[in-house]
Formats: sequence, structure tokens, C-alpha cells
Amino acid sequence: MNIIVMGLPGAGKGTQADNIVEKYDTPHISTGDMFRAAISEGTELGIKAKSYMDQGALVPDEVTIGIVRERLSKPDCAKGFLLDGFPRTVPQAEALDALLSDMGRKIEYVLNIEVDPDELVKRLTGRRICKVCGTSYHLQFNPPKVEGVCDKDGGELYQREDDNPETVKNRLEVNMTQTAPLLAFYNAKNVLSNIDGHQDIDDVFKELDAILQGNGQ
Ligand code: AMP
Repeated sequence: MNIIVMGLPGAGKGTQADNIVEKYDTPHISTGDMFRAAISEGTELGIKAKSYMDQGALVPDEVTIGIVRERLSKPDCAKGFLLDGFPRTVPQAEALDALLSDMGRKIEYVLNIEVDPDELVKRLTGRRICKVCGTSYHLQFNPPKVEGVCDKDGGELYQREDDNPETVKNRLEVNMTQTAPLLAFYNAKNVLSNIDGHQDIDDVFKELDAILQGNGQ
């Protein structure tokens, strides 16, 4: 299955992407994670991406499309993939379509998790992430058993640099402006499903799963 998971930052798209990947055994391709890995490795790509990411701005399309093209050509994507955080602009979506059509493939499911922006500011500024395994916690809504320590592997929890209140507001604004035309793009192709992201994590997954099984809305 060729899947895109969409939703504003903090809507739970990373968590749900992990659930889908686990159940359907498909590669999880997150452009944000790829950029963060490049930054920590100090590669040329990381240096290019960092200045944009620090401001909550989008990395230029040609850079982003390039890394996705390279990733989708890897053998593990032959049977399907899940894209998380890409595409974020219509030119990226068009480039993705062209890329897939060259491979004789297309996007089958676009799963859009909807959450109110005010709720997202609360979720994002309280988010803490494990340095070792990347698991997300929330100071209020999903705290670890021991403050600052991952339940799974004892790793140290940190706050992403772009999860501070000012950058969060900018990221949400940038994302909302960019997302609307993208949703229209996929709606016109009849592959878009909207899911209420205010529900419990498990209930959101049940809805997503039903859609992927062909029983959804
Ligand atoms: P995320 O982890 O998906 O919230 O992404 C974190 C940051 O990485 C974003 O704020 C952007 O600076 C950059 N980024 C991730 N995906 C993309 C994309 N598809 N296009 C442009 N920039 C991106």
C-alpha cells in the first residue's frame, strides 16, 4: 500500500504512522526525521536543512523532493511505503505523482488527522522525545513514569528545538497555509480520508485501520 499520513504538527501523525507501519510492515518515511538525522550527522544536506528548520520554515522543494526520490527508489519500498511529513506543498505532491507514475505506481490512501490549532499549541510545547528511540511523551497528557527518562529504554528526554512556543506558532501557520491546497489536490483524486484526531490514540488508529482495510468512510 502506498500511504500518506497528513495532519498539522502535533496531530499525532508520527504516533499513528508508527502504528500503521507496525501492523502493515511497510517502511516509514519521515522527511523531518531524515533532516534531523542529516543534521546530527553533520552532512551537507543537514547544514542546508538546519537554517530553515530552526525558523520553522519549509526546506526548499528541490532539496526535499531529492531526498524522497532517493528513498523511494530503495528496494524496501517496492511493496509499499508510508510517507509522513511529505508532501507538504502542491509542487511536492505533483513531483511525487510524476515520480510514482514513472515507477507505474500511485498514492492509494491519504489519511488526514484533524485537530484544532489551539489544542496543537498545547500538545507541541509540552512534547518531550527520547534521544535514543524517538518515542514521544507529553508533560501533561502522556508523562513518562520518571521525569526526563524514557519508559522504554531509559534514554534522556529532550525538547525539539522547533517545539518552543514561538516556532510552534510559525510552524502551524506555515502548515495550515500549505496544507489546504494539498487536501484539495488529494480530495480531487478521491484518495483523501479525514479522521477526528481529538479521539484517544487507539480510537484514531481503529478508524485509520478500517480505512486501510477498505471499511472506512
Ligand atoms: P516534522 O518533523 O515533519 O515536523 O518536520 C520538521 C521540519 O523539517 C519542518 O518544520 C521543516 O523545516 C522540515 N521539513 C520536513 N518535511 C518537509 C517537507 N516535506 N518540505 C519542506 N520541509 C520539510
